[in-house]
Amino acid sequence: MTDKTELLGLSKEEIAEQISKLGEKPFRAKQLWQWLYYHGVSDFEKMTSFSKDLRAKLAENFTITRPKIVTEQISIDKTHKWLLEFADGQRVEMVYIPEEDRGAVCISTQVGCAMGCRFCHTGSQKLTRNLSAGEIVGQFMVARDVYNEWPTKTDENRMLSNIVVMGMGEPLQNVENVIKAMNIITDGEGISVSRRRITLSTSGIAPKIVEVAEATGVRLAISLHAPTDEIRSQIMPINKKYPLAEVMKACQDYQSKDGSRYITFEYLMLNGVNDSIENANQLINLMKKYQINAKFNLIAFNPWPGCGFEPSSNNRIHAFAKVLNHAGYAAPIRTPRGQDILAACGQLKSKKDQQQG
Ligand code: SAH
Ligand code: SF4
Repeated sequence: MTDKTELLGLSKEEIAEQISKLGEKPFRAKQLWQWLYYHGVSDFEKMTSFSKDLRAKLAENFTITRPKIVTEQISIDKTHKWLLEFADGQRVEMVYIPEEDRGAVCISTQVGCAMGCRFCHTGSQKLTRNLSAGEIVGQFMVARDVYNEWPTKTDENRMLSNIVVMGMGEPLQNVENVIKAMNIITDGEGISVSRRRITLSTSGIAPKIVEVAEATGVRLAISLHAPTDEIRSQIMPINKKYPLAEVMKACQDYQSKDGSRYITFEYLMLNGVNDSIENANQLINLMKKYQINAKFNLIAFNPWPGCGFEPSSNNRIHAFAKVLNHAGYAAPIRTPRGQDILAACGQLKSKKDQQQG
C-alpha cells in the first residue's frame, strides 16, 4: 500500500487544497488540472511548466493511475471493446461505438449491479462495489489514450465525441461519485465533453433522478422497458420499490424546470412480454398522463444463456414503432453493435467471467 494521494477523481477544489498543503501558489493547481485533464499526462516528469523540484515533490506525494487494459477486441463493425482492471484487480468492460465521424464511449459506474433486472447479464452478477470518481473518469481517459485524443481536441475533431453511462452498474446507486465524475469530465479547462453529449441511463431510482440531473446537467435516459407496473415488476425488481408513478413523476418534475428537455426512454423488445400493440398504446397513455416530452429507443434484446427471454421479431418491433410514430413520438430501432465480440449492453464482462469461472 502506498500513502500517496491519487489525483484522478479529485475535484478542482480538492486539487487546490492539495497544492496549498504543499505550500505552492494557487495557479499551480490550475496548471496541474490542465496537465491531468487537458493534456492527459500521467507522468509528472512530463509536466514541463513545473520546476524539477516541484515535479519531484508531486511524484513523492501523488499518483496518477489509469485503469489497466487487460484485453481489447475490435468487431467487424469497428466497435471497440476493452477489458479494464482497477488497482484492486476488479474489472469492467468499456465499449466504443464509432459512427461516421464521431462516436460514443460507454462507461461503467459499478462492478456488477444490485438491481437484478431479469434480462440483464450484469444484473445476474450481483454488486461487487461502487467505482470511485477517478475510476469512472479514468475509463474515458483510457479511451482518449488509445485514440490519441490528447491534448483535448476541439469538439469537431473528436472521434470520441459522446459518452453514454450505460455500462455496468446503476449510476443512481453511486450518486456522489457519479456527480463528481461528470463534473470533472465536463470541465472546460480539462476533458471538456459537453453536458449535452453525455447521456446517463438509469433503471429508475426515482428519488435521485432530479437531484442527479440537476447536479450534472447531463442528458437523462430511463430504462423503462414496460408500460405497466405489472409487466415492469416482473422484469425489473426495482419497480416494486419505485413503481412507474414515482419514476414518471420524477421525469415530470425534471421537465417542469425546462420544457425544452426531452427524456429518452429505453425500451427493450422482449418477445411476448412487452411488445404488443396494446403495450405500445399503454406506453403512449403513460406519457400523455404525465405530459412527458419523450423519445424512445427500441432496443433489440441480446439473449444470453439461461436468460429465459427471446428477442421480438423484426415485424413486431416495426409494428410497435409505427404505433409510437403515429402518436408523434420518435422511436428509432437500435440494433446491437459489435455482436461478434459480445459488446452489447448487459453482456459486458460476462464472457470473460465465464472463462475464468
Ligand atoms: N443500470 C443502468 C445503466 C446500465 S444498463 C440502466 O439500467 O439503465 C444499460 C442498458 O442496457 C439498459 O437500458 C439495459 O436495459 C440494457 N440492457 C440490459 N441487458 C440487455 C440485453 N440483454 N440486451 C440489450 N440491452 C440490454
Ligand atoms: Fe443493473 Fe441496468 Fe443491468 Fe438493470 S439493466 S441489472 S440496472 S445494469
